[in-house]
Amino acid sequence: MSDIIHLLPDSVANQIAAGEVIQRPASCLKELVENSLDAGATHIRILVKDGGRTLLQVIDNGKGMSPTDARMAFERHATSKITQASDLFQLRTMGFRGEALASICAVAHVEVLTRRPEDEIGTHLEIAGSTVTNQEPAQCPIGTNIRVKSLFYNVPARRKFLKTDQTEMRNILAEYHRIVLVNPQVQFTLVNNDEIVSELPASSTKQRIEAIFGHTSKLFTTQIVDILANTELVNIYGFVGKPEMATKNSQQYFFVNGRYMRHPYFHKAVLTAYSGLLSPDHNPSYFIYFDIQPDAIDVNIHPTKTEIKFADEQAVFQILLAAVREALGKFNISPSLDFTSETHLEIPQIPPSAPIAMPRLQVDPSYNPFKSSSSHRAPSTAQWETLYTQPVTHPLPEEEHVLFHFPEIDESVQIMQWQNKYIIVPTTQGLMMVHPHRAHTAILYKELLAQLSQHKGASQQLLFPEVIDLSTEDLHTLQALQDDLSSIGFGLDQFSPNAYTITAVPMQLGQVNPCETLLQVIHQVQDTGSTATQQWHEAMAFALADKMAIPTGKMLHDAEMRDLLKRLNENHPAQYLSNGQTIFTILTPDEIQKRF
Ligand code: ADP
Ligand code: MG
Repeated sequence: MSDIIHLLPDSVANQIAAGEVIQRPASCLKELVENSLDAGATHIRILVKDGGRTLLQVIDNGKGMSPTDARMAFERHATSKITQASDLFQLRTMGFRGEALASICAVAHVEVLTRRPEDEIGTHLEIAGSTVTNQEPAQCPIGTNIRVKSLFYNVPARRKFLKTDQTEMRNILAEYHRIVLVNPQVQFTLVNNDEIVSELPASSTKQRIEAIFGHTSKLFTTQIVDILANTELVNIYGFVGKPEMATKNSQQYFFVNGRYMRHPYFHKAVLTAYSGLLSPDHNPSYFIYFDIQPDAIDVNIHPTKTEIKFADEQAVFQILLAAVREALGKFNISPSLDFTSETHLEIPQIPPSAPIAMPRLQVDPSYNPFKSSSSHRAPSTAQWETLYTQPVTHPLPEEEHVLFHFPEIDESVQIMQWQNKYIIVPTTQGLMMVHPHRAHTAILYKELLAQLSQHKGASQQLLFPEVIDLSTEDLHTLQALQDDLSSIGFGLDQFSPNAYTITAVPMQLGQVNPCETLLQVIHQVQDTGSTATQQWHEAMAFALADKMAIPTGKMLHDAEMRDLLKRLNENHPAQYLSNGQTIFTILTPDEIQKRF
């Protein structure tokens, strides 16, 4: 028998690699813009047509390529950025794999126009399906101009997998934000279907944040405070939102050495710094930048993954926690600062006689965020400073491991509500405590998910339709969600390019503010960072359920409590909500016994 193993042709190998690197227009754009940044561009223009499927074009004024390099750039593993494995640990560039251009040209028609400053004349190159079809000298400005046309033209499965143009555009915008927020010194222009969507001049980090998110809330830059920690291990700087802005648009960004990253563990550090300052369902906004020796992190995990490993995560966690705490503490003593400049030195000293405004925060001084995630937070504003003077060497929070099934409830048993909050129920398993808001959220969540998949949510017409103004990103999300929103009972009409009229809301929403609810739904979907329908449905159902559920702190009648428990029982609930919050817990006979 003859041998059956052979090497794949480059075009096939590249197409396989493309599946990894280029999943959708947004990932293609990311690679192109990162190349422009690596080339030292100070102005980057991005043109998008039809959500990127027809055209993605990136024009930069970077260092350009020679005619030979321009050809080479599209070969697999062709890179100018590293030459040996050890370079991987000294990376200061965004790219290094030499995979992106090879992958892109395997699944699209690509055209390049590029010139180096030292060359009189540039080069024009056309590539389709990994093959150079044409190269000729061409007049062009210094820099590189890449057009990627008909993405996935030869991969029908991928093309089918793409979502609506609006959704793809929303992904592009999200990717754009991740890039521009960490490159404020670079000027960016984004054009979608011949319309300028974003025009960002070179600026400071704070101005850049304002330029992007300022229109969602006019007060935005007065709502964030700067954080700063310079240590031998890591330098951390950036901005965190004041606790009171936590309800609105929660924007959470981490960057390390110029690249966006997700880091659930560091996210926990930020949340820990806020603990006791936010109501449980509110999220803080943050823009936090880490600078660290390249050899102290590992970015070589996966071409598209945004998780980054730090050598000393525990230490960075503690530094971050301390930095955020300090920033929040500073804001507490000087609540009305004008944060239009970035320097710390300008924080005015408050004279001792000046009245110190107490923050509108609810803090329990005895609350220990490290003890248990389900511990009770009694509202109190006394001794709130103690939160910030504690040393930050606590052990990390311990997870609870005991899981309970929802117990049988004897109908004749006496039940009560304690502190207008927990429902206390004796059961055979022990003394059960139920959180009414979360229990109701869990019930509504299931109902809403079913309505979303069956398209049959009941609707209630608004007597006075409300107009909602939307940011570009929110607008794109809303458009992508429009069908789902109408399946659960929202009635929406476009009012102007940036505004919609809400004519109807889901039946169970009652008197809850329609605009706020819709925004929460939109933001919760954006926070998933996903484009999978199921994840969207879950995010929408959760945001809505949370709004519709019995408010925390509401006194309940016996019949209401029993009804809630009955519905909960029918629902076979898990002990926790999907965001980790405890719905019910049980004090077992053993635990009670131990106390005597
Ligand atoms: P990588 O960025 O990992 O090196 P790419 O496939 O993205 O791999 O790019 C290959 C090479 O092409 C880069 O190393 C760089 O030398 C060159 N290149 C790509 N885009 C540009 C650009 N916009 N300006 C100048 N050079 C570029
Ligand atoms: Mg690259």
